[in-house]
Amino acid sequence: MIGSGFGGLFTTQALKHAEVDVTMIARTNHHLFQPLLYQVATGILSEGEIAPSTREILRRQGNARVLLGEVTDIDLTARTVTSKVLDQTGVMKYDSLVVAAGSGQSYFGNDHFAYFAPGMKSIDDALELRGRIFGCFELAELVEDDAQRARLMTFVVVGAGPTGVEMAGQIAELAHRTLRHEFRRIDPRSATVILLDAAPAVLGSFGDRLGAKALAKLSRIGVEVQLGAKVVGVDGTGLDVEDAQGQRRRIESVCKVWAAGVQASALGALLARQCGAELDRAGRIRVRPDLTLPGHPEVFVLGDMIALDDLPGVAQVAVQGGRHAAREIRARLAEKSAGARPAETSAVDGVAADRVGPAFEYHDKGSMATISRFSAVASVGRLRLSGLTAWLMWLAVHLIYLIGFKHRVTTLLHWAVSFVGRGRSERTVTHQQIFARQAFDQLGDEFSPTLSPRPGQDPPS
Ligand SMILES: Cc1cc2nc3c(=O)[nH]c(=O)nc-3n(C[C@H](O)[C@H](O)[C@H](O)COP(=O)(O)OP(=O)(O)OC[C@H]3O[C@@H](n4cnc5c(N)ncnc54)[C@H](O)[C@@H]3O)c2cc1C
Repeated sequence: MIGSGFGGLFTTQALKHAEVDVTMIARTNHHLFQPLLYQVATGILSEGEIAPSTREILRRQGNARVLLGEVTDIDLTARTVTSKVLDQTGVMKYDSLVVAAGSGQSYFGNDHFAYFAPGMKSIDDALELRGRIFGCFELAELVEDDAQRARLMTFVVVGAGPTGVEMAGQIAELAHRTLRHEFRRIDPRSATVILLDAAPAVLGSFGDRLGAKALAKLSRIGVEVQLGAKVVGVDGTGLDVEDAQGQRRRIESVCKVWAAGVQASALGALLARQCGAELDRAGRIRVRPDLTLPGHPEVFVLGDMIALDDLPGVAQVAVQGGRHAAREIRARLAEKSAGARPAETSAVDGVAADRVGPAFEYHDKGSMATISRFSAVASVGRLRLSGLTAWLMWLAVHLIYLIGFKHRVTTLLHWAVSFVGRGRSERTVTHQQIFARQAFDQLGDEFSPTLSPRPGQDPPS
């Protein structure tokens, strides 16, 4: 099993009672619940709540072993996986392989944007963004220059999909509710939160009606939505944006968040080269209908890495794909123990090289996005919900899918602190995070924060 995300973990768990030895190898020691990353970035939840240790989750599953490692090579002919930790390299043999390495952020060919506008794909990203968001308010309290202060208090989120909407909504709530009485020089309520997208609508995949509701709600909570706005440049102090008519303008902003576009794991290209499968523009590999690779029925690819029937890059595709793969692996074992011997068997596990299992059937359970506390939109079957009802539904679904009872309890408490009250329990930011990737170095020589009080103000005691 490559990956400890939704695909990897749910496949492993679905093999709990099978007569197999499972090795799960991932480059992180945790299972990350990505849908709540924005709450770590904005100080609502701790990283532990959304990223429990995989080893702990699987402690009672005797047939599963967890290994830390970055997979650097897969050899489909030799049936080996090569992985690295620090300077150690390991090679493992497999009978069946499940590849669920997910996706990363795509900057549409402008990878240098990442330095100035981190995406939101990992705990590192979320903690860095937390540092940048809270750090900007801290620095705004220190600077004398009005233009510098405005730049520090302008937050831009690129991408008006669910992640961008949730992020922009939470930064606005942070500025308007949580921080409002905490600073003496600046008024956090004067912060500008901009949500940008090249597309003409917010939450395009939710349809016109819910998109319009989301847009109206965002405006009410103080998010400035700019649509038809394509980002053509990003640097330390702002962004260059081009509108549909080709007109360029500049937005001065220190804190930028990239929530637009995904690129599948590079392991997809590695597999495609060996088995002749196609890759789409987002680097997703075209698998067969049973989620296996052409000519390699022993290799399943799941979740964000696959291009199949326009399936979306959502957790349920990975979860259900994982359960499908586990079912098929169990079925093959049952066939094998019943003595069935296919004519043309492959070397290791007795699976016919041209075997095609039952097609993967995806059941769409709907999608939802929060906009602010007590307000969300949800599209479930024919139901289109918004406001409090959708928000309560969002709350229940996320609690169910969070792993571990204790994480659910503490998450509920943190939600009460933030949504019923005004607080945020997880605001700690370390020096390294504030200055993460030396972002603030990019502010240039003229940037000069000062601890001295303004004329007419008392010195800090
Ligand atoms: C900010 C954000 C919000 C989201 N919100 C929602 C939502 O509200 N609803 C929803 O349904 N979906 C949401 N998604 C999408 C959802 O999280 C993904 O579709 C889902 O995680 C895909 O599962 P996966 O198993 O394919 O990959 P992931 O869950 O990404 O898991 C990939 C795993 O592979 C490991 N890995 C990657 N490369 C290597 C390597 N080379 N070697 C070893 N290990 C490797 C990673 O460490 C990780 O453990 C969101 C995603 C993001 C980023």
